[in-house]
Amino acid sequence: MERRPIQQLSPGLINRIAAGEVIERPANVVKELVENAVDAGATQITIDVEDGGRALIRVIDNGGGIPPAELPLAFASHATSKLSSDEDLFRIMTMGFRGEALASIGSVSHSRILSRTAADDSAWEIHNRGGEITFPQAAAGNVGTCIEVRNLFFNTPARRKFIKGTSTEFGHIADMVTRLSLPQPHIAFKLTHNGRVTADLPAVASPVERWLTAWPSEFRDQKLDINCRDAELRIRGVVGLPELGRPTPKYQFVYLNGRHIRDKTIMHALREAFRGLMEPGRHPAAILMLDVPPGDVDVNVHPTKIEVRFRDSGRIYSLVLSGVREKVLASDLTPTAIPMK
Ligand code: ADP
Ligand code: MG
Repeated sequence: MERRPIQQLSPGLINRIAAGEVIERPANVVKELVENAVDAGATQITIDVEDGGRALIRVIDNGGGIPPAELPLAFASHATSKLSSDEDLFRIMTMGFRGEALASIGSVSHSRILSRTAADDSAWEIHNRGGEITFPQAAAGNVGTCIEVRNLFFNTPARRKFIKGTSTEFGHIADMVTRLSLPQPHIAFKLTHNGRVTADLPAVASPVERWLTAWPSEFRDQKLDINCRDAELRIRGVVGLPELGRPTPKYQFVYLNGRHIRDKTIMHALREAFRGLMEPGRHPAAILMLDVPPGDVDVNVHPTKIEVRFRDSGRIYSLVLSGVREKVLASDLTPTAIPMK
């Protein structure tokens, strides 16, 4: 084949390629928008979905809003209000930091941001049609932000084809909202699908109360509270009694500094903690919130940040194992319990 010259990609194409990494399906849009609302200090987040997210995803929050002058930047790539110095990357306290989500989402959908800060006397809106961005215009709206995403993947037919049926996609969205809501008990969440309310979580003072919304209600009386720490790590959470173990980890929710993660080391520690008490191959029910100094973990490993790298994963493994194992053994739960060899 004849060689073609190296050329810089256009910004529109760069955004669409970036979108391919982070936005696989409608649930990923929900994740990015809700995380932004959390970062904005919202206490109430409403998520409206139509047709499994294909027709519409709308996230409304009562957070701090975006001033009109910054609205175009919200849709710009590599533009964020969450990192201001190089060192910030090594002590991330917010859910976002890449400044990519809205640019990516905007490049593969018809999106609109309507936002108002407490300092402005009206709201302002801006539209993005697959990368074509309008000038901000004054509009009616409350303090906070409303972001609407329509016609997701309208210009990326390959990705569009991979979207599954309405109920499958909505199932992913509902799971995502559950996952996002657990570490934020002080935020009220409401989810609707085609106008019907499917989840309505009031703000609660007790984290455990929120955590338990992720499990079937009959698990309530079969849980053990976990609360352990060493000098720098802290683990809070609940684990289910051995009989709540399942062939898949569907009742396992692990968080690092408020961020949902999937971590093989922690899953392994959990299984070990139940060794001899649970049939092999089962996954314990567990909701664990790990607090780690931000400098001890690298969250910038994976575009969706689901995987993280710990500076000392052996220490995390030991603390999860000992913290959970102690609780489980002390609870004297099942007559069939076999002590660990
Ligand atoms: P990131 O979250 O990594 O900064 P995003 O593309 O998700 O990147 O958002 C870009 C910027 O837009 C954010 O840094 C924030 O300043 C602003 N923003 C996005 N969503 C909201 C929101 N719901 N409320 C207030 N500001 C928001
Ligand atoms: Mg973000």
